[in-house]
Amino acid sequence: MCTTCGCSNGARARITDLATSKLQRVGEHEPHGDFVRLHAHVHEPEPVQTHAHVHGTTVQLEQDILAKNNRLAEQNREWLKAHNILALNLMSSPGAGKTTLLERTLRDLSSSLAISVVEGDQETLFDAERIRATGCPAVQINTGTGCHLEAEMLAGALKQLAPAPNSLVMVENVGNLVCPALFDLGERAKVVILSVTEGADKPLKYPHMFKASSLMIISKTDLLPYVDFDVSACIAFARRINPDIEVLQLSATQGEGLADWYAWLRGQVSSER
Ligand code: MG
Repeated sequence: MCTTCGCSNGARARITDLATSKLQRVGEHEPHGDFVRLHAHVHEPEPVQTHAHVHGTTVQLEQDILAKNNRLAEQNREWLKAHNILALNLMSSPGAGKTTLLERTLRDLSSSLAISVVEGDQETLFDAERIRATGCPAVQINTGTGCHLEAEMLAGALKQLAPAPNSLVMVENVGNLVCPALFDLGERAKVVILSVTEGADKPLKYPHMFKASSLMIISKTDLLPYVDFDVSACIAFARRINPDIEVLQLSATQGEGLADWYAWLRGQVSSER
């Protein structure tokens, strides 16, 4: 996994607050206020040695990285719970429509529900700028060579975002069906988005992503007449991997299925309270 390709290094990540254009590098900020707990372990010695080739050592490094991430994720979870904030982690391959779904969701729900967004991409502020154009707060995490978000990055983003109590934080992970599944951010639930242009067999090819997710959204359903995508087979494959996974089908551009998505979101919010 990420230890072997060397991308798992949160210190290279940058976080930009779109409201102030303030740039922060993960690991450089000073803890203050009630974020002290979030950052208590930020300066722990990093056990990563990316050139370790001995199999046993590599396995140990992976365990160390995931253990550190899990500790930080638990601190995020405690902080979010203490402030009654629901955080969801949206994951997909690049181009599945995460940002488009978020834009539509914000335009439809933000008058009745306080929502802010953490955007994850290797480079550019494009997606956070699209979110800001809807009128909702957004910060952008740029991971550089990193292919996923980590709990430490979310802690830094929450510090800049300062989401209101009783609100919803939507985290758009880096587009990737592999590594984001392995890293707990402290979110309430993981949501995987699979577009009908990708192929119905993705749940079997990338099982960790579908096993880790509570909800699978099949997106771009307006394109179904033009592509060879077997919806029933896709759902059956996903439930072979994760029998409990919920499934929604929608088109963010045409609007079909959005009412079910909004009902699911409101259900998550009300069960958080
Ligand atoms: Mg995006």
